[in-house]
Amino acid sequence: MNYELILVRFGEITIKGRNRNRFEMMLLTQIRLALKAMPLLTFERGYARVYIRLNGEKYEAVAARLKDIFGIATFSPVMSSEQELEAIQQCSLEMMRSLNPAPKTFKVSVKRGWKQYPYDSVEMNHLVGSHILRNTPELKVDVRQPEVELKVDIQHQTTYIYCEVVKGAGGFPLGMNGKAMLLLSGGIDSPVAGWMAMRKGLRIEAVHFHSYPFTSEQAKEKVITLSKRLAYYGGKINLHLVPFTELQTKLAQSGHDSLIITLMRRSMLKITERLAEKHGALAIVSGDSLGQVASQTLGSMNVIGRSSSLPMLRPLVMMDKQDIIGYAEKIGTFTTSILPFEDCCTLFVPKSPAINPNLSLVESIEAYLGEELERLIDEAVKGTEVLVLKEDGESTSADLDNNPEDAWF
Ligand code: ATP
Ligand code: MG
Repeated sequence: MNYELILVRFGEITIKGRNRNRFEMMLLTQIRLALKAMPLLTFERGYARVYIRLNGEKYEAVAARLKDIFGIATFSPVMSSEQELEAIQQCSLEMMRSLNPAPKTFKVSVKRGWKQYPYDSVEMNHLVGSHILRNTPELKVDVRQPEVELKVDIQHQTTYIYCEVVKGAGGFPLGMNGKAMLLLSGGIDSPVAGWMAMRKGLRIEAVHFHSYPFTSEQAKEKVITLSKRLAYYGGKINLHLVPFTELQTKLAQSGHDSLIITLMRRSMLKITERLAEKHGALAIVSGDSLGQVASQTLGSMNVIGRSSSLPMLRPLVMMDKQDIIGYAEKIGTFTTSILPFEDCCTLFVPKSPAINPNLSLVESIEAYLGEELERLIDEAVKGTEVLVLKEDGESTSADLDNNPEDAWF
């Protein structure tokens, strides 16, 4: 079927007043930017919706991209018809005939936005429905549970006809809810956590700790690939590569084997908090999932989380691994995540990491390291390298600002 338009419906419809307007403006901008590669498209804003006129662009290509834009609840491919009854009947019939697989039951729902139309909606339901029935004997009407609901929306100039409703990604337009730092490890979980944070309207900057030369160049490449995939959903992404070797070595020498991971994680958070301040982020997102490993028990989360005063956002905390893997596959990060390159945290994994670390003991070790620890944290922050990554490469611009155009290109 040669669709002419796509009707895009917005998500999170409980938003009211001025925020709603902001939501709609931001989403329209995101849609335009994400579809920039299709120059023939034009956009018309309606109440809580946008019409995208295809002007010859392929519906399938636009739909594939729309599915991944945050803030879109649903969308529908639409035909527009002249206002004469015969034209509406014919167009409705064509749409029903084009459906694959062919449905057995349907109903027609006519809505009149233009009240002067000569027939009211009950009459129109009947006139359109009976035309379809006459021409497709195998179809039946079922008003309670139809397989297909054919919607006919009569407006002043045009009538819009559609029946398919495609689910969008939901959530908020990117950046609507501010910015957070994402702890990105290269495993399965943290890219999924990043995607979920972005879906909730957070712009993210990724932070990765590496222990070069103990961790390889390939481990870094893996995190770059994951960041580029996240950039497909969220425009440009800053990836902060933090040199962690010296600090990690120091902590490993502290003589408290079972607490190494706890100590490393606390330092990671302190460094991330400093980067967050520098870049205007108000939270830290991690891929922690309750009970998954020793550092993700409630006791560990408590002791680790206290090292930073920023809110810790853990989108996966109550999810099972299988469900997380399902998301990783869906968002296209899984195959990269399972590549077998080592993470800095796996280098010094002790035989029996603490599952219930003692806060005062941890604090006393840090106090003992004192200024040395502060210095190493400072150096790690100073030595952090920033890459600005796009879906298909590296960007030349040095930093992100709050301009959404800049965030994408
Ligand atoms: P993932 O699959 O994301 O690696 P994981 O199950 O391997 O998670 P951990 O290695 O315990 O879990 O890490 C828990 C979280 O800590 C990660 O999801 C990530 O947010 C953060 N993290 C771990 N290692 C790093 C790292 N090298 N750089 C940045 N963040 C990290
Ligand atoms: Mg990991």
